[in-house]
Amino acid sequence: YADSAMYLAKRSGRRGFRFYTHDLTVEAAANLQLESQLRRAIDRGELELYYQPQVAFRDAEVLGSEALLRWHRPGFGFISPEQFIPVAEETGLIAEIGRWVLREACRAAAEWNGRGGPVHVVAVNLSARQFQSRGLVQMVEKILAETGCRPEWLEFEITESLLLDDDDTVAHALAAFKRIGLSIAIDDFGTGYSALSYLTRFPIDTLKIDRSFVQKVTTDPRHAELVKAILSISRCLGHRVVAEGVETMEQAAFLNVYGCEIAQGFLYSRPLPKREIPSLPRYLTPHSKVDTPVDAEST
Ligand code: C2E
Ligand code: MG
Ligand code: MG
Ligand code: MG
Repeated sequence: YADSAMYLAKRSGRRGFRFYTHDLTVEAAANLQLESQLRRAIDRGELELYYQPQVAFRDAEVLGSEALLRWHRPGFGFISPEQFIPVAEETGLIAEIGRWVLREACRAAAEWNGRGGPVHVVAVNLSARQFQSRGLVQMVEKILAETGCRPEWLEFEITESLLLDDDDTVAHALAAFKRIGLSIAIDDFGTGYSALSYLTRFPIDTLKIDRSFVQKVTTDPRHAELVKAILSISRCLGHRVVAEGVETMEQAAFLNVYGCEIAQGFLYSRPLPKREIPSLPRYLTPHSKVDTPVDAEST
C-alpha cells in the first residue's frame, strides 16, 4: 500500500494539507484512511471475488478455481489484495473479510456443483491471522451448513509459515478440517521457511509451486532442478501439485513432462468474475484461453 500512500500524499498536498511534514505522518494518515474505507467495504458491497481456473495438464479439464479477492476502492479503482490484505491483517479486519470471502466462495461452490456435472473445487486463501481466532473451525462448519457447500467442493490455501508455528491451534484446526473432509493446499510453496518435515506432519493434499519458480523454469537450470525435485518429492508423498503463474507454453511443457498435474496461470485464464465461470468450456487449453478486460492484474 506504499503506492496508495504516495498517491494520497500527493492528493492531500494538492488539497493543501501541507502540515504533514514527515512522510511517516502522511503514510500513517493514508493507512488510516485505507483502514476506515476497508472497514466499510463489506457493507458497501465493494468487495468481489474473482475465480482463476485450475486446469489438469493431462486433458485440459477445468478442475476448479481459486477465489481471489478484489476491492473496488472508491476513488482508487480496483486495488490489489497484495495492498489491502496486509492492512486487513494488521487491523484485525481480516476476520470479517475472511468470513465474507468464505461465505461468498461457498455460495459459488454450491451453485456450480451438485447438479450432476463434473466437480468444481473452489480454493480459498486463509490468512495466518484467521487461525488465531478460536472459533475458526466452527465458523467454517457453520458457513458450509448455511450455504449448502459440501466439504469436497472446497480447498483451503495456507502458507508454509503457518506450519512453523509451534502453537497447537494450527495443527488442531487442520486436523479438524481434514475430519470434516476439506482439503488443504500449501500456497507459494518453496518461498517460505521450508522445513520439509512438515509435509509429513500435517494433513496436506496439495502443493502450489510458487510462480517465482515456475517463471524461471525454462530460463534458469537451477530453478528447473528445484522444480523437478519438488515434483518428485510430492509424487513420493502423494501430494497433488498445482503450478502457479504458468504464462508460457514452454513452462507448461516442462511442468507436464516432469509430472506436474495441474496448471493455474494467465496461459489458461486470468482470474474471472463469478458470472463467467459457469460458461467456461469444460476443457481449457492455451488456445481456448479466456481473456478478460484489464482488472487488478495489470497493476
Ligand atoms: P496467491 O494466493 O498466491 O494468488 C495467486 C496470485 O497470482 C493472484 O494474484 C493471481 O492473480 C496471480 N496470478 C495468477 N496467474 C498468474 C500468472 O500467470 N502470472 C502472474 N504474474 N500472476 C498470476 P492476486 O489476485 O493479486 O492475489 C495476490 C495475493 O493476495 C494472493 O496470492 C493471496 O496471497 C492474497 N489473497 C487474494 N485473495 C485473498 C483472500 O481472499 N484472502 C486472503 N487471506 N488472501 C488473499
Ligand atoms: Mg492462493
Ligand atoms: Mg499462491
Ligand atoms: Mg504466489
